Amino acid sequence: MQQKQIIVIGAGIVGVSTALWLQRDGHQVTLLDAEGPAARASWGNAGLLAATAYLPVTGPGLLAKAPGMLLDPNQPLFLRWSYLPRLLPWLVPFLRNANAQDTQRIAAGLVPMVADTLDEHLALSAGTKAARYVVPCDYVYVYDHKKDFEKEAFGWDIRRQHGLTWQEMDQPALAGFDPFFANGPQFAVRVGGHGRISDPGAYVQALAAHFQGQGGVLLRGQAEGFATTQGRVHGVRVAGETLACDAAVITAGAWSGQICRSLGYRPNLEAERGYHIELWGPSAMPQVPSMVVSGKFVATPMEGRLRLAGVVELGGLHAGPSEAPFALLKRELARNMPGLRWEKMTQWMGHRPSTPDSLPVIGALPNVQGVWAGFGHQHVGLTAGPKTGRLLAQLIAGRRPNTDLAPYDPARFA
Ligand SMILES: Cc1cc2nc3c(=O)[nH]c(=O)nc-3n(C[C@H](O)[C@H](O)[C@H](O)COP(=O)(O)OP(=O)(O)OC[C@H]3O[C@@H](n4cnc5c(N)ncnc54)[C@H](O)[C@@H]3O)c2cc1C
Repeated sequence: MQQKQIIVIGAGIVGVSTALWLQRDGHQVTLLDAEGPAARASWGNAGLLAATAYLPVTGPGLLAKAPGMLLDPNQPLFLRWSYLPRLLPWLVPFLRNANAQDTQRIAAGLVPMVADTLDEHLALSAGTKAARYVVPCDYVYVYDHKKDFEKEAFGWDIRRQHGLTWQEMDQPALAGFDPFFANGPQFAVRVGGHGRISDPGAYVQALAAHFQGQGGVLLRGQAEGFATTQGRVHGVRVAGETLACDAAVITAGAWSGQICRSLGYRPNLEAERGYHIELWGPSAMPQVPSMVVSGKFVATPMEGRLRLAGVVELGGLHAGPSEAPFALLKRELARNMPGLRWEKMTQWMGHRPSTPDSLPVIGALPNVQGVWAGFGHQHVGLTAGPKTGRLLAQLIAGRRPNTDLAPYDPARFA
């Protein structure tokens, strides 16, 4: 295989995974990030290796529910109304997918990206100091009542069709499994084969440090564009200079669209802004990551703290965090975990990179040779990052991946 000089733009989980797999193939790799590894979404996510998260947000019925949700501050969907005109070219096709047929299609496309996530993280981190952050575990969906689970039958049926099995727990069984939920929720579903990252930011930084230790170049700088000749890339423009390369990979999360546009390629990409609050030194922790379905947030035990993460706010890349999503998470905390105490609370907002069809963009850019895409992983980028990196390394080496990549084809936005 021909060894190449490759620049990977963006050092979130997707970029770091890609850089590592390319390095393992023997390439000379530079990992470039405007702020350093794990600066953005990969820092503050819920830390869940979400092997069953192949149902898109755009389930059937969203269209009918969305207006009411947007007007209700107790629902986990927010919109910065001033951003609506800019959002429409993404929002219209996004909502068009909110039907049964497209949900099935999208789920089938996402399964190969998420189902073996734990194995992919174990393979990526094996032999590195990052391995200690990967914790195999179950995942629990916690419901106020069994009827709330039954209302989600459409989604659970899709999971069943994809071979998933689970354990249903009534209140005593849940309390026996996890005393954290002893009072309150009446029903839960326990699914095996998941994992959690005990500190997502530290994990990605440890992977980046390993990459550097193995001879990779980690560079701080903002990619401003590309140098091309006769439709082929030969450099990335950073701070007015050209860094030479044979190939470049765009893994800049929600900012990837801006970078692609400098090449005349316009993927339809938006930021689904998400929020977390962290309780440091909590008086109790759940045993495993738990989706509190009534509040649509995930509670994940992390090193020294409990992280509660969720909420979708549509509002673009530039505005700062809004107060209402934090207030909602705090109300949900009080409602669902009334006895919990903690020493300190911190809060964070980040940008999920999302396409209207909820499928990532992975593969060669259609209009320029030598530039590859690895972005658009919406709610499952931590889960699917290592697999994406492995697939990109295979593609760049000219090997044929054992996965149908058609659903992720960058040409669907050409
Ligand atoms: C609240 C919340 C909870 C979530 N929970 C989960 C979860 O439990 N499980 C899961 O799988 N996913 C989860 N996600 C989604 C996941 O975090 C993202 O899909 C994932 O982190 C995206 O990774 P990325 O590498 O594509 O982008 P990012 O992590 O955003 O990284 C992009 C990087 O590119 C850099 N960059 C941008 N522009 C440039 C430029 N021009 N030049 C150089 N560098 C640039 C940035 O500095 C940044 O470091 C969650 C997201 C949120 C917000």
